[in-house]
Amino acid sequence: MPAHDPATELKTVRQSIAHAAVLATRKPEYVTLIAVSKTQQPDAILPLLAAGQRDFGENRVQEAEAKWPALRADYPDTVLHLIGQLQSNKAEDAVTLFDAIHSVDRPSLVAALGKAMDKTGKRPACFIQVNIGEEDQKGGCAIGDLPALLAAANDAGLPVAGLMAIPPADTEAAPYFALLAKLARESGLAGLSMGMSSDFETAVMIGATHVRVGSALFGARS
Ligand SMILES: *Cc1c(COP(=O)(O)O)cnc(C)c1O
Repeated sequence: MPAHDPATELKTVRQSIAHAAVLATRKPEYVTLIAVSKTQQPDAILPLLAAGQRDFGENRVQEAEAKWPALRADYPDTVLHLIGQLQSNKAEDAVTLFDAIHSVDRPSLVAALGKAMDKTGKRPACFIQVNIGEEDQKGGCAIGDLPALLAAANDAGLPVAGLMAIPPADTEAAPYFALLAKLARESGLAGLSMGMSSDFETAVMIGATHVRVGSALFGARS
């Protein structure tokens, strides 16, 4: 067996999600595991599809356009999530390909997505990305700008499902997850896209509805 057999890792990650959910008296089926397949080739993705995994995350529109139409032909019930930063001029491509967009973070992108949805008639679920650690270089809207951005998204007809965040690296993530959960509660939003390979169990215990897990499934990215 190869060092990283994605189908075996999938089982382990699913068990860890279920364990964390039960500890938090949550139902495991309310947590969607997004397998982050960015940089992975179809031969790495296919074993997960064969094992029943259907939600996948990509961070670049062009890479996803190159990989997924062929895979989806065989697995039409695949659910594709865009988790990386999105340029406004790619909004229509993104809306056409993806079922959910987790990186809505500024008014200009909200406007572009609204236009693209009206034009294509496709309305992928949207998560507003929050710069939860208030880091200079990070994507995501400032916490103080969230109410205005949510209002703009509603005005533009975006189906807002929840909030997404990437906590600062190399720190305890739990306080940031808790803050994102609080912001979602205050905004009346049910969706919480948070938690990656190193901290998805913590995220599940704090209420994540979507965890985005890459290297724990596929091995380290080169
Ligand atoms: C790459 C990526 C992930 C997955 O990271 P891992 O540490 O490999 O699990 C999750 N979310 C976002 C936004 C990413 O870009």
